[in-house]
Amino acid sequence: MTEPVAPSPGEGAPGTGRRAAVRCAPVGLAGLPERVTVYEVGPRDGLQNEPGLVSVETKLELIERLVAAGLGVVEVTSLARPEAVPQLADAEELISRLPPMPGVRQPVLVPNLRGFERAVALGVREVSLPASATESFARANLGRSRSESLAAFAQVARRAGERGMAVRGYISMCFGDPWEGEVDPDEVVAVAHELLAMGCRELSLGDTIGVATPGAVRRLIEVLGGAGVAPSQLAVHFHDTYGQALANTLEALRSGVTTVDASAGGLGGCPFAKSASGNLATEDLLWALDGLGVWTGVDLVALAQTSLWLAGQLGRPSPSRTVQALARQLPGRA
Ligand code: MG
Repeated sequence: MTEPVAPSPGEGAPGTGRRAAVRCAPVGLAGLPERVTVYEVGPRDGLQNEPGLVSVETKLELIERLVAAGLGVVEVTSLARPEAVPQLADAEELISRLPPMPGVRQPVLVPNLRGFERAVALGVREVSLPASATESFARANLGRSRSESLAAFAQVARRAGERGMAVRGYISMCFGDPWEGEVDPDEVVAVAHELLAMGCRELSLGDTIGVATPGAVRRLIEVLGGAGVAPSQLAVHFHDTYGQALANTLEALRSGVTTVDASAGGLGGCPFAKSASGNLATEDLLWALDGLGVWTGVDLVALAQTSLWLAGQLGRPSPSRTVQALARQLPGRA
């Protein structure tokens, strides 16, 4: 559980122009899990969608600060082709310079066998695979049909299994797709079955364009459950395009899911870019879960301070509402 935000002396006093930090005692809600695993995607999914480039030193400091704040899983980068994702072109240097972090999972996204081989050479122990529920996004994202990409992932998963490496499968476009419109839950089921059959231990359901609403979330998790895919095998990955990411996450938790993807500071959601479709901000998630008395092990204040630091590096404010609110209260901030 995080400590309350402690205002510095004088903060919040009448006439100072600052308001005291208020945090209410946790109040639970029926149907929620006692603990949630936060799968931090900021350094990978967040930074790959930022318009600017960030130095490897800044990325290393970011990852260390995220871990120091209590995050136990940080997806650190992607071994995509550097031309395809220039923001993460320093992946090999970054991975080779990561300090030992005992007990902390540091998965790396690998889009193909070549990326997997690079991961193995770097000593990576856990990989994630970017599958898609739809044909159109598979072609747009990886230049392959859905079945071709799944066949390539199966090769990666088999080799990872031989090495005892954990494999996570992302399923993008689980609810809507910009080319195909609404996505049939049965399409998600088909991809989920393939990913589990090839050895994925966890599937992350992605609402890549952020169109889902809570009823659709519950329906998809129920359809998957009816097809033999248990909530314990799932994570959720929501985008806040329509302001629904947190509502959708809470519904997923009430449907039995206990792993949530989130991005520190809402990284990847640039308020000045044409598409402000960022990931759920980790701080917004933590404000809700702390208030609900759900344990995450992450210190909200330390995380918000990290996001404020990174916002300074990026030269723009965090889009997270929680980071913005805490910024007005944390010491040293106006
Ligand atoms: Mg994302």
